[in-house]
Amino acid sequence: MKKAQDYSSILEETGIRPTSTRLLIYEAIAGTKDTFSLGSLEAQLQSIDKSVIFRTLTLFHEHRLIHSVDDGSGSLKYCLCHNHGHCTNEEEHCHFYCECCGKTYCLDQDLIPHVDIPEGFIARKVNYIVKGTCAECAKHISPTRCPNKGKPSR
Ligand SMILES: [Zn+2]
Ligand SMILES: [Zn+2]
Ligand SMILES: [Zn+2]
Repeated sequence: MKKAQDYSSILEETGIRPTSTRLLIYEAIAGTKDTFSLGSLEAQLQSIDKSVIFRTLTLFHEHRLIHSVDDGSGSLKYCLCHNHGHCTNEEEHCHFYCECCGKTYCLDQDLIPHVDIPEGFIARKVNYIVKGTCAECAKHISPTRCPNKGKPSR
């Protein structure tokens, strides 16, 4: 795990002034494995105003420090960019959405496959989601009878 001063240089490199609140939020994100939602981050950082968390998340996203993932669950999720903002669209990784527990995993090793788009089209964002049952859920259940089903997704 990196130290706070390393985080501030990461923010500075992308042109974000590293205030203590921003560093606290970035640290929480960096310590999160796989993806998180705005709601789960708010729950984790109860001392920070929700609107501040939202604005900071938007700022980080604009500077590509985090990736956004639309996993079809209805709530947008985010994950840390391990290239610290230097990912192009093509370098974004794939995700795995567990239909059982609602968790979205980062498949860091798997980059989104290249898609040829027709001439004149401008791609803005690519999401690549594999859906199914995660290893944790698969251990306990047959996919149709998931004990976790109905729990709020994170
Ligand atoms: Zn990235
Ligand atoms: Zn699962
Ligand atoms: Zn991810």
